Formats: sequence, C-alpha cells, structure tokens
Amino acid sequence: MAENKDYYEILGVSKDASADEIKKAYRKLSKKYHPDLNKAPDAEQKFKDVNEAYEVLSDDQKRARYDQYGSADENAGFGGGSGGGFNSSDFGGFGGSSGGFDDIFSQFFGGGNGGGRTRSAQPNQPQTGEDLQYQMDLTFEEGVFGKKTTIKYNREATCDTCNGTGAKPGTSPKTCSKCHGAGYIQVTQNTPLGRMVSQQVCDVCHGTGKEIKEKCPTCQGSGRVNERHEVKVTVPAGVEDGQQMRLQGQGEAGSNQGGYGDLFIIFRVAPSKVFKRDGAEIYLDQPITFVQAALGDEIKVKTVHGDVKMKVPAGTQTGTTFRLRGKGAPRLRGNGNGDQQVTVIIKTPKNLNHEQREAMQSFAKASGEQVSGSGKGGFFDKFK
Ligand SMILES: [Zn+2]
Ligand SMILES: [Zn+2]
Repeated sequence: MAENKDYYEILGVSKDASADEIKKAYRKLSKKYHPDLNKAPDAEQKFKDVNEAYEVLSDDQKRARYDQYGSADENAGFGGGSGGGFNSSDFGGFGGSSGGFDDIFSQFFGGGNGGGRTRSAQPNQPQTGEDLQYQMDLTFEEGVFGKKTTIKYNREATCDTCNGTGAKPGTSPKTCSKCHGAGYIQVTQNTPLGRMVSQQVCDVCHGTGKEIKEKCPTCQGSGRVNERHEVKVTVPAGVEDGQQMRLQGQGEAGSNQGGYGDLFIIFRVAPSKVFKRDGAEIYLDQPITFVQAALGDEIKVKTVHGDVKMKVPAGTQTGTTFRLRGKGAPRLRGNGNGDQQVTVIIKTPKNLNHEQREAMQSFAKASGEQVSGSGKGGFFDKFK
C-alpha cells in the first residue's frame, strides 16, 4: 500500500488544474467508487485514495506543500489531527432537486448539515442520520381534499437505554487509547522512495474516536436500535401525484449522536374514472343529447364537491366548455379552489325507433334539408 501516491494522477487532472477542475474530478470519481454504489473489490480503496487526494489538493496550503515536496510526508508539514481540509458542504446538500448531483448520490451524502459519509475524513464527527423515503398512495379524492393519517415504517432510532452513546448506563465512552479520539491513525513506512504516510481508520474504535469498555446491553454498543416508527401525517388538500413532503427529523438516527435525518413522503395520487386534474383545475367531459344542445336545458353535473346544476344554452355546439367557478381542487399554495371546466359532448343518437325516425324526417323537411340516409331499408325511402 505504501506507494508514492500521485494525487494528480488519482484525480486524473493536470498539475496546474484549477480548484474547480479538481472539485469536478473529485465529485465524479468519489461517485464512481463510492462503496455503496460500486461493488468492485478495489472500489473502497480507490474511494479512499480519491478522498485523500482531494483532501490535499483542495487545500491551498497542503497542495503547495505537496507540490514542493512531492509527497504528503509529515516532515513536510502535512499532518493529521488538525481537522483536515475536507469540506463536505461542497456537496450542496440534499433536499433541493436543483443540484447538479444525481439524487441517488445525494442520498448517500444526505443529512441536513451536509455531513458526508466519507469514511476516511473525520469519521468521529457527529453525523446526521439518513433521509428516508415513504411512498403514500392516495385516491383521487384524497389528493383533492387531503387527509389525516398515521404511517408506520422501520427505522434506526437512538437507543433509549444509553441515549445513543453505546455505553452501559452508568458508564461512559472513553477517548480511544490508540488514536486519542481522532478516529484514524497515521501509518508511516519507509520505502525506497522515502517515508510514506497514510491515514487509516482506527481499528480499535472503528473511526468513532471512542472506546466503550462496557457496551449498552440494548444496542450492543451501536447507540442505535431498530424500531417500528409511527408518524401522524396531515396530507394537505390539493396535493398532486409525484409531489413530496418533508418531515424533519423523522428519518434515521445519526451516528455519534448526530441528529435524525428527514422523511420524504412521496404522494402517488390515483387517476379518477370521471375527472381529469391539472393543479387546482378539474376537467370533465359531459355528454348531452342533441336535443338538449339544440333547445337548451339545465343539467346535473358531477363535481368533487357533489352534483351541481348547470345551464346549457340553446344552440350549444359540441366541444363547448363551461366553467364552474370554485368547483375545482383546493390550491395547494394560496386561497380557495380552482374551477371545474365542463366540456359538453353531443351524443348522436343511434338505433332510432320508428317514431324517432319520423320525427327526424319531419325535422329535416322543416329545415329544407335533403338527406339521402344510408343502410338497409333506409328510412329516407319515403321521400322518393
Ligand atoms: Zn481509535
Ligand atoms: Zn444503547
């Protein structure tokens, strides 16, 4: 392992790469080799190397020293313990869909404080827990009117017995005797190329910086337990398919007593057999007879708020749209409801009986209309 690492080569950038180029390369490679995404046997090592390279090259002082001495030799002044240069707030955080990162990657870097999950950098810092997703299926009506409900899901919670410390009640974790709380150790080796220093996660405390002599009997020292968690949810009226709601602190417990992550509820709203919906507007196709269209009528129309009466004026054409004010869905942000738009569709009568045919013929005659008709025993034969 103790080879002379070329951090520029690891990140695939030139010696005079700008800070921006370095950051870009780092983002690309840390994603490529992230152990949660890449199952290749060497991925974890490469991930560590990439992080190590970025830690040095992203820090102007460290980079200058590295450039000058050709390695991160501690004699050259590069040393751990001073907080490192890795700043995971560069990731821009999870929660916005606007970031340049894929969502899947953001999840791994989740947490409201931007606390990364990189294992080599400051592993003993409190880290916010993972965000969780919950898909909630709603009927069309539930999407319109909202509802109150309780959801249940499994999550990792802070252990009540030890309050997340992992230590048996009455005892407390001690600072790790091997790494003195840093969570990692420096390994120095002499090689033909010179003294090589690398950082490793401390094998005694596994990066937590703390040693637990007597483990909490409930969580066996992890500080976290699995629980079936219940949350009361108020689904807002007017929610649409695909929309998300964030419930702070309802995700998983963090490590080292970091806070809880968030829960994202994703709404799946079923379509209606009757209505179509776009935001607060609801659309309905309403069949009417050609007599109603010609003579005008007052008809009963379905809305999500119940049936309402609607006037169809005489001489209405098929495809005409009428607006029922306030009969749409509630506006998710804002006041009141949208409208329902009713498009009337004139149904041409089929399979006329004798009486109806006669009436049609009279109507045609009264209109001065010549209609040849069609089909077997066409009813316009009589005009011949
Ligand atoms: Zn340790
Ligand atoms: Zn415990």
